[in-house]
Amino acid sequence: VQLVPTKINKLISNIAEMYRDPEALWKVMAELDDNCPPALIDSSRLRQLLHNLIKNAIEATENTILPKIIVKTLCTENDWLTLSICDNGPGIPEEAQNWIFEPYATDKPKGTGLGLAVVRKIVEEHHGKITLTSSRDNGTCFIIKLPIISSEN
Ligand code: ADP
Ligand code: MG
Repeated sequence: VQLVPTKINKLISNIAEMYRDPEALWKVMAELDDNCPPALIDSSRLRQLLHNLIKNAIEATENTILPKIIVKTLCTENDWLTLSICDNGPGIPEEAQNWIFEPYATDKPKGTGLGLAVVRKIVEEHHGKITLTSSRDNGTCFIIKLPIISSEN
């Protein structure tokens, strides 16, 4: 892992662009805060994280009438860049929130259960934090905080 000061907005808009598909029902939208300073990022690892979360969001919104996935940056804190990936799917029941990050934990017939385990690992590599908010009415948001200023630990 190589953490390099990186402006992640560009990286995110590129990924959102990749998921643009006029044939698909779902929309992946980026809402980017122009005030974000560089964060310490390994770009290829962060891309992996975004793909895993966006893929889950697309799968979760399979039965949503107008599936919407929003990838957002917010930089109102001095030390942390906040990155969130939200969907308007059915939400994650509270009981499930205990196991979804475990490797091989899946409720999909052909799932690997590895996506979120890898996401958690990548967040740790970046000395970041991950939380989630989820409800049946509002869908799911994974919220990731990445340190903005260099730290040696
Ligand atoms: P997989 O996608 O192969 O099942 P993941 O580790 O990516 O494995 O996800 C684990 C489980 O977490 C999924 O099977 C699903 O139950 C739940 N999950 C993950 N993301 C979402 C989401 N955005 N909405 C609802 N459930 C989710
Ligand atoms: Mg997955």
